[in-house]
Amino acid sequence: MKYNINRNSKISRLALSAGVAGLMLTAAVASPALAEGKKVSWDDIVNDAKTPGDILTYGLGLKAQRHSALSQINKKNVAKMRPKWSFSFGDEKQRGQEGQAIVHDGVIYMTASYSRMFALDAKTGKKLWQYTARLPEDIRPCCDVVNRGAAIYGDKVYMGLLDASIVALNKDTGKVVWKKKFDDHTAGYTMTGAPFIIKDQKTGKMMLIHGTSGDEFGVVGKLYARDPETGEELWMRPFVEGHKGRIAGKDAGPTGDPKAPSWPDGAYKNTGKVESWSHGGGAPWQTASFDIETNTIIIGAGNPAPWNTWKRTPKGGDPKEWDSLYTSGQAYVDPTTGEMVGFYQHTPNDAWDFSGNNEIILFEYKDPKTGKLVKAGAHADRNGFFFVTDRTKLTKRGDKKINKPTSLLAAYPFVPDISWAKGFDLKTGRPIEVEGQRPPPPAPGEKRGKVIKVTPNFLGGKNWNPMSYSPETGLFYIPSNDWSEDYWTENITYKKGAAYLGQGFRIHKQFDDHIGVLRAMDPLTGKIVWEAKEKLPLWAGTLTTKGGLVFTGTSDGYLKAFDAENGKELWKFQTGSGVVSIPVTWEIDGKQYVGIGSGYGGAVPLWGGDIADLTKPISQGGSFWVFEIPKELASN
Ligand code: CA
Ligand code: CA
Repeated sequence: MKYNINRNSKISRLALSAGVAGLMLTAAVASPALAEGKKVSWDDIVNDAKTPGDILTYGLGLKAQRHSALSQINKKNVAKMRPKWSFSFGDEKQRGQEGQAIVHDGVIYMTASYSRMFALDAKTGKKLWQYTARLPEDIRPCCDVVNRGAAIYGDKVYMGLLDASIVALNKDTGKVVWKKKFDDHTAGYTMTGAPFIIKDQKTGKMMLIHGTSGDEFGVVGKLYARDPETGEELWMRPFVEGHKGRIAGKDAGPTGDPKAPSWPDGAYKNTGKVESWSHGGGAPWQTASFDIETNTIIIGAGNPAPWNTWKRTPKGGDPKEWDSLYTSGQAYVDPTTGEMVGFYQHTPNDAWDFSGNNEIILFEYKDPKTGKLVKAGAHADRNGFFFVTDRTKLTKRGDKKINKPTSLLAAYPFVPDISWAKGFDLKTGRPIEVEGQRPPPPAPGEKRGKVIKVTPNFLGGKNWNPMSYSPETGLFYIPSNDWSEDYWTENITYKKGAAYLGQGFRIHKQFDDHIGVLRAMDPLTGKIVWEAKEKLPLWAGTLTTKGGLVFTGTSDGYLKAFDAENGKELWKFQTGSGVVSIPVTWEIDGKQYVGIGSGYGGAVPLWGGDIADLTKPISQGGSFWVFEIPKELASN
């Protein structure tokens, strides 16, 4: 199905009618009797991965490995797992639930569709408070009204809203402490990703880090640092080369190196002649990781806008010589200044909406040849390749280009039959592109270009839903999809608030028996150690545990547990709607629990063509499920 702007109007209408029904008129329903709970310190956040009793970060630690040290529920007994309680998000707003829960001091903080947050008693599922943002009717989320999670620090919880704002709530009452609008939602700016708390290791300043969404509408993607107490902006850094950043409210200069432009001439001069550069995308809409040793924020940058490669290449030029920096890659940002200090681009002059947003997991391994410890980053991209980068080898601003790819260690294909590139040249860090895979421009007088087939499609070999890493097995667990598309260019002119793609598509199945594949990848060899296939696309994140398990959710409604070593399915439970969220596990009073959101939606049913039709039978929903091994079964 071709992208249709009416989809968004429909979503907006849904939001409006719910508002009229009076469900969104109260910002927070709070009980005055709630006691003040324990505050979250920076040390608590630094130690998050080592403290399985709570979950204080998106990613279960600053390295975002999504691994829990709990082993009470393990390979031997996971078959005994049963639901403990389920909570309904209620309302008419049953769209995609893509959130990851935060768990602290006996309370679960779960975000839900239409910019809602719930605080639930972790033991009973009783609602403690609810926050529902009052959204305007003209919001423009590209890919459903999702929210991917909260951040927690001190006495506050934080979440991004679909109207391009971010809010801090008192974690004990749900009352709004501050709310900041960061950009114009009618131009397509939104926020769906979970914000992230860091401490600048140089100045000792605490920072709330968040980005924007909106590449499909031609926004200029930006990364922000705020004071977590007041919401005041500390700095802002645009991800399109040549656009100016801010620090402490003052001009912080352009992103990148003016002497080596990667957009058509005119970009730095800001002549207004290069339309694409003025609306160049690159939005960092997922959540950062933080390398505390090098004091670096690491985050993926979105696709360049528009998708049409010829709109970002000078007339008669070679797209391979115009990279559209700093888009579709991984960005390394100095928290003190907000400067981009390093960048590795997975897809130079991205012609396929591969984007570079997917999470970058930080991990360490011993180089088998030298025995030296390598501090690496891992990233499974929509373009079908799994990248391993050396996160200590960054190039500095002022070098010829920040995009100097000294840091690329490996790029392994993790899906079959990738059509757009044969692989990567490890010396230059650049893809070995296959000729004819950039959708050609329309012939003179035509509105559309020739249709070509591309694998993987723009929803990617893997989309936003995060993978996980187990230090025990040394493997990454990638929720991937095998699918392809027909692709063609279209003429496009920027119009505020309208889709800015310049490209049409139709997504297809690649294989008869499956689309989704959970894959275990060895980051040292690129070998797929095992895989487990799914009929429908995988759109949920994964979690690994010391109990030797991998958890993920499926579009047809299951939470599943696999043996991390061999991929054997050990347990599953039907939650009643599609699962497109992120599983977590924690313990309270010496007992382990597993939790996940259920509620189908996200990009696939809106953009997925033939695949969207396959998902039509899935019931919509909105709930949070908690599982345990009941006492009476534990001893059997
Ligand atoms: Ca923890
Ligand atoms: Ca995109």
